Amino acid sequence: MINFDNTYSKLPERFFKRNKPAHFPDPKLLAFNSELAAELEIAGPVSGMENRTEESVYSDDDLAQIFSGQKILPGSDPLSQAYAGYQFGQPVAQLGDGRAHYLGETNGFELQLKGSGRTAFSRDGDGRSSLGPVIREYLVSEAMAVLGVPTTRALAAVRTGEEVVRQFGPEPGGVFTRVAPTHVRVGTFQYFTFKNDLEAIEILLKYVVERFYPELQNLPVADQCIGVLQALTCRQAKLIAHWKSLGFIHGVMNTDNFSVIGITIDYGPCAFMDQFSYDKVFSSIDRNGRYSYANQTAIAKWNLFRLAECFVPLIRDDEAQSIQLLTTALEGKMEMFEKAEHKAMTAKLGLPPGAEQTELVYLFLAYCENEQLDFTLAFRKLPELYYNQTDFFPQTTELSAFTEKWKAHKPDVEKLHAINPLIIPRNHQVERVIQSCYQGNDEPFFQMLEAGKKPFEKNEALAEFAMPPKKNEIVRQTYCGT
Ligand code: AMP
Ligand code: MG
Repeated sequence: MINFDNTYSKLPERFFKRNKPAHFPDPKLLAFNSELAAELEIAGPVSGMENRTEESVYSDDDLAQIFSGQKILPGSDPLSQAYAGYQFGQPVAQLGDGRAHYLGETNGFELQLKGSGRTAFSRDGDGRSSLGPVIREYLVSEAMAVLGVPTTRALAAVRTGEEVVRQFGPEPGGVFTRVAPTHVRVGTFQYFTFKNDLEAIEILLKYVVERFYPELQNLPVADQCIGVLQALTCRQAKLIAHWKSLGFIHGVMNTDNFSVIGITIDYGPCAFMDQFSYDKVFSSIDRNGRYSYANQTAIAKWNLFRLAECFVPLIRDDEAQSIQLLTTALEGKMEMFEKAEHKAMTAKLGLPPGAEQTELVYLFLAYCENEQLDFTLAFRKLPELYYNQTDFFPQTTELSAFTEKWKAHKPDVEKLHAINPLIIPRNHQVERVIQSCYQGNDEPFFQMLEAGKKPFEKNEALAEFAMPPKKNEIVRQTYCGT
């Protein structure tokens, strides 16, 4: 049973195209997130649901049918959402869900299939996904959720039984079900801006404000625009700071992949860094490093200005005056990015925010970059460094300079293991798990999922997931998989 209560499908017809998922003759369930299902009050073979009647509990086969789009439940209203976007800085007036189907909303969350076949927005694409990106998104988005990062969640992964042809040949196909309060992006507003559809922009604004910024509801439209921009800036600033504090690189921060509620969406060629480098890029298509680790802040700011552009006609009749007001409102909040990052990074050293502490972060990161240290382990081992109990850190004058100043600030080292995780979903492990699933062994997938559930704890049985890659295991590039 899923109690659908849809809001997006009640928006005007030009916000989406109704279409059904593709036919897959023999879908098989790979994974179902019972805990999340319980939160959404979706029935399933889940613990804690013993009180439900037999009929309300789905079998694995039912779940495979539902979450590959074969069985459309009552109240579900499958559609693909329209959006545009700036991709690598260039405007694209029409994108939209080319391989995703919104099924409907339950308990305030949208359920969306990804890889479920061609839609009205597929352009030249096949609407399919290989199983690899499904597994990657499942593992990474769930790990992010456990680490406290706002994100879409993983509800289900299904093998379609079909093969899809990708860059390196045929691969097994998959459908991923993701869940989010909304999938509206900056690109959704841009879709209507490109069409000069002012009425639709107002409708979308009202939709977003009512549901996600209710404190702005009674303000005039111009103030709502500015309110959304400023509140979103705070959310995005915290989000990007969180990403950076974990060494996460999203990889495709196009405006069509940039949420209007400040959650991480569209896990494509994303990756967590092993060795620290400010300029680190994994995505095979990011040739100029536009979406590198360090550049994520500048890009998030740039994307917010693109959203501001959509609001220009809603502020004042005079365009120049509108631009002036929006620019001032946004510029005033931009320092949130640096503030949030300094706070997140100084916390990783066990220190409160402050100019001197931020200086220490730079010193430590410069040392890590020079010595090619593993980002996650370098922070994780700080308590050992404090007590001079490790040979992980190469002894250099930079390290001595840092350690001396750091100790002088009296860091709260006892708390550090609750701030700096031991386990992040490392690339080489994700790749290993994918290859194993391709060969029919799903056990490593479930082990990795389990390891990700307790990222701050040492677990001998799952110790391999805390290990950085050996030289021959290093993953240097990631792909969209589309
Ligand atoms: P992404 O880079 O995954 O955010 O995708 C950018 C655009 O390409 C979106 O409009 C997607 O829906 C579309 N797209 C990606 N992969 C496919 C595919 N296999 N078939 C159809 N459209 C796709
Ligand atoms: Mg996308």
